[in-house]
Amino acid sequence: MAQYTPMIQQYLSIKAQYPDAFLFFRLGDFYEMFFEDAEKAAQELEITLTSRDGGKERVPMCGVPYHSAHTYIEKLIEKGYKVAICEQVENPAAAKGVVKREVVRVITPGTIMEENMLVDQENNFLVALAGSSSSVALAAADLSTGECHITELNGSMDFVLDEIASYQPREVVLDETLTREKTFMDKLHVRFKAVITPFGQKSSEAELEQKLAGQFPGFADICTTSLLKRVLGILFSYLEETQKRSLEHLQRLRRYDARQYMMLDDAARRNLELTVSLSDGKKRGSLLWLLDRTATSMGSRLLKKWLDKPLLNVEAIKERQEVVRAFLADYLLLDDVKDQLKQVYDLERLAARIAFGSANARDLNALKRSLQVIPQLKERLILTSCSRLVQLGEKMDECADVVALIDRAIVEEPPVSVKEGGMIRDGYDTKLDEYRTVQKNGKSWITELEQKEREATGIRSLKVGYNRVFGYYIEVTKANLHLLPEGRYQRKQTLANAERFVTPELKEREQLILTAAEKSVDLEYELFTEVRTRVSAEVGRLQTLAELVAELDVLHAFALVAREYSYVCPVVHTGDRLYIEAGRHPVVEAVAGEASFVANDSELNGTDRQILLITGPNMAGKSTYMRQVALITILGQIGSFVPASKAEISIVDRIFTRIGAADDLVGGRSTFMVEMAETCHALKEATPRSLILLDEVGRGTSTYDGMALAQAIVEYIHDHIGAKTLFSTHYHELTELDNPLARLVNVHAQCIEKNGKVVFLHRIVPGGADRSYGIHVAELAGLPEQVVQRAKALLSELEGREQRADVSVGQLSLFDWNPGSAQEAGKPSGISEAEKEVLEAIRSVDLMNKTPFESMQFLFELKQKL
Ligand code: ADP
Repeated sequence: MAQYTPMIQQYLSIKAQYPDAFLFFRLGDFYEMFFEDAEKAAQELEITLTSRDGGKERVPMCGVPYHSAHTYIEKLIEKGYKVAICEQVENPAAAKGVVKREVVRVITPGTIMEENMLVDQENNFLVALAGSSSSVALAAADLSTGECHITELNGSMDFVLDEIASYQPREVVLDETLTREKTFMDKLHVRFKAVITPFGQKSSEAELEQKLAGQFPGFADICTTSLLKRVLGILFSYLEETQKRSLEHLQRLRRYDARQYMMLDDAARRNLELTVSLSDGKKRGSLLWLLDRTATSMGSRLLKKWLDKPLLNVEAIKERQEVVRAFLADYLLLDDVKDQLKQVYDLERLAARIAFGSANARDLNALKRSLQVIPQLKERLILTSCSRLVQLGEKMDECADVVALIDRAIVEEPPVSVKEGGMIRDGYDTKLDEYRTVQKNGKSWITELEQKEREATGIRSLKVGYNRVFGYYIEVTKANLHLLPEGRYQRKQTLANAERFVTPELKEREQLILTAAEKSVDLEYELFTEVRTRVSAEVGRLQTLAELVAELDVLHAFALVAREYSYVCPVVHTGDRLYIEAGRHPVVEAVAGEASFVANDSELNGTDRQILLITGPNMAGKSTYMRQVALITILGQIGSFVPASKAEISIVDRIFTRIGAADDLVGGRSTFMVEMAETCHALKEATPRSLILLDEVGRGTSTYDGMALAQAIVEYIHDHIGAKTLFSTHYHELTELDNPLARLVNVHAQCIEKNGKVVFLHRIVPGGADRSYGIHVAELAGLPEQVVQRAKALLSELEGREQRADVSVGQLSLFDWNPGSAQEAGKPSGISEAEKEVLEAIRSVDLMNKTPFESMQFLFELKQKL
């Protein structure tokens, strides 16, 4: 190492502390990377790899200009890397030897603060975990908004994983004990995981507790268990290690119990398209997309949180409904509030950036302008007759002191940069005013000097000017040079037809003006950071205000949607009747248009309508109907109105779904495996208060297998779980289950035949479907006439055969058949003697000890027997 140049030595010693991050090493106007970092970065960022003399050898190097570094950092973070920013921490002019450098911050996917790297409408959670996979403490912090949610989760590993997934964390920090649990680690689908020893090596448990108590108001009351303390310790150690500054804005610590909200696992979230659509993974086409009429980004983020965690508490739901109702009763209020909300910027992230020390003067003005809206908004709310709105208004703090401070200090249109002056108002600081006077007077002094020199020399074309290299000068054209008196004028620069001079007087003035300019820029920066620090002391108040505005915004959005699509307020209760009159699928309706959507009723209860068995051909509207029931329930439990003419919603604790064929290609599981895994999840975890949607379960395997499984699953839900269930199937035979199963009801998606073609009515009506629609649908799809005719003939043949064999579900168990036993039980088997003989032969043959030819022979013989 000694043979390297001192700068490379400095680089290497800093890099050694950050082996897992790209080290952005500040060198003048560039961030440079060396050695392996340089090679890797050149590849990832597609920038040129060069080299530099490092003393004992040339070392690979590549760099990015400091002013555009954020785009490169963004790319690396996007690819899942960390970036350590290493700055020059002393003035290069004053440094002896190599300039001192330090890492000032490590940017990781879960600790982004940069506005252009965040999505306004989304949180960016960093999740920390401690404990074991069946008993884990979770802390989810969003540095960009300053919120931190903690909880303890006890239950199955799936339960724990579902809760983690609900935060969609970009990064997870783990207790090292957890990393030993292989299955858990495999299932934790997060690209970026950091392992950390709790409490680090440096500080003791007591020290850390003290620190946490200082960070989070109410820490001792909130973190009552050692596991919670531990997880917060892990989170905080990581943040301290990477951010290297006080995190005043991260003080909103909230503890919650996951079981106080409706549980929605990953499959349910995906299948119901709550926040992204199934087709392209984008927000468009999801329930969030439909509902998101919020005016602020804070509202948008809160809406997503509400959708992730629907409520179970009837009173809390009613409180939200009350506000929506008040808005709908007064359209003027609805419009006024909208106009006011639109003027509020992202208070939450502004406050966070201010406290973090990354906000500029424009951010302060954005904060000021947002706060200036609050008094009118408050007044508007307080004058309503809705108690919750009055309460929201009363709680809002307009932070007049903050507004006054910013207004006094910052000009109306400050520049983006905080290092170039032009931010602070005249009259805010006397010293700054003095510097400015010198600069301003400097300009008039120059005009006066020009006049004076012209008169003294008699040269009318004489000019006083300024350039960056030579400073201030007096310019005289060559033709007039002879008019200049000797002595006072020193020649400075020769041009083609003029000469430039300076005088001692001009030099002295120049010095004064230039230092004043430099000093005022420095002073402005100082004054600005002072204002920023003073505002950041109020971050708690700003965050509380942000929360109130966000809540108002979401409820306002609910009202807008309800008005646009004529939603009604559901009666939410803890009884067991779910009743929807003329319900619609909110998103399909919005996309297809209200007029073309066919509304349907739904009723489920624990007495005689626990399970709806839905039959009907493909494309008849079965899964739309099932999803619509789930979505209306979710809408009801987040406090929104619902797309129906009337609705009673019985609180649901969990929604399980098995819809559609989504192959888990990453996990390498087949469609059928996924189908069974999701179904199994529902059967294990559901309670009588749950809602289960099973769409065509069993489709992924052979007919009899599938049908048998489907029946067994329905029976189990009926007899052992009691959960409300919507079960769609194309196994027509299952419709007979309404006889043995008292709480199962058949319904079907109605179709009619018009001019020999099938027309889907999208109407769900009582009873089982006519089974032959499949062929009609095929006909509709344009299958050749010959094929259709042949299929019809085959169908009637099969039906005939089935009747003869009496293969009716609930009587003959298709699984249990083995030669003789059916006969013994006195039941017709439907299989001939010859067939039985063939089956027996297949059962007993030892294929492994046969050559291919012998196998062929064997097959041939079997065929002869049939
Ligand atoms: P299935 O599950 O029976 O195959 P889907 O629910 O997927 O049928 O619906 C098929 C198509 O019919 C979808 O494109 C959907 O938009 C439309 N559809 C479903 N239900 C309705 C309805 N109630 N009103 C209007 N269109 C509907």
